[in-house]
Amino acid sequence: MLVDSHTHIDTSRFNADREHVIQAAVAGGVTRMVDPGCDLASSLAAIALAQAHPGVVFAAVGVHPHDATTYTNEVGLHFRKLALDPVVVAIGEFGLDYFRMLSPREVQREVFCAHLELARACDLPCIIHVRDSHDDVIELLRAYGQGLRGVFHCFSGDVAQAEECLACQGFMISFAGPLTRQGNALPEVARMAPLDRILVETDSPYLVPQPLRAKRNEPLFVKHVAEKLAEIRGMALEEIAHVTTANAIRLFGLGEQKNETV
Ligand SMILES: [Zn+2]
Ligand SMILES: [Zn+2]
Repeated sequence: MLVDSHTHIDTSRFNADREHVIQAAVAGGVTRMVDPGCDLASSLAAIALAQAHPGVVFAAVGVHPHDATTYTNEVGLHFRKLALDPVVVAIGEFGLDYFRMLSPREVQREVFCAHLELARACDLPCIIHVRDSHDDVIELLRAYGQGLRGVFHCFSGDVAQAEECLACQGFMISFAGPLTRQGNALPEVARMAPLDRILVETDSPYLVPQPLRAKRNEPLFVKHVAEKLAEIRGMALEEIAHVTTANAIRLFGLGEQKNETV
């Protein structure tokens, strides 16, 4: 049993066969998946999908750093209301992306902090996107993220950066397709990360794991990330599946009814 802790199955690349993709994942042992929003519209789409697949698909609400300029106070208020729905298990994805820099850096930083406040107000974990922005993310988390919990999704840094991330209590590191590729420090990171602080994800439809030749990634393929992790750690796939699933359930409260009294 595996959890795909990060998939964008609400997006248009799944329009033709979304139900089939979800069923294939469940039939293949990927019994739960978290679909984070990238803006207000996709957050709403993720919630609708989660409502249609209770206990299987879970949603998160947030604005991706690429779209940071679309975040307003009104959007934030909307998220706060949406987060009362038990299918919403996190705030995200949000973060800083200085690689593509599709939104100005200062706007990204402000919107990052607004999401930290949201996570605190809603008592939900954060799903954080980091690309060429590690130092700023750590700086802002240290300054404004005390007491929060969450995940550095699709972790792509080195061991020193992983150590800084793990020094943030309550935060986990999530591995995606890049773990299966050559030429990065991820195997070392995968070896040093404590077992109770790791997750697996696809970030589908992006980042197809190797050696698959598929054009589109999907939740079922999280198995390949878990297999690679098991190989690196010298553990059985079942053990890696067990610990990463337990971590995802603990972090996101998957399967629990939250806000029942609200
Ligand atoms: Zn991301
Ligand atoms: Zn993503």
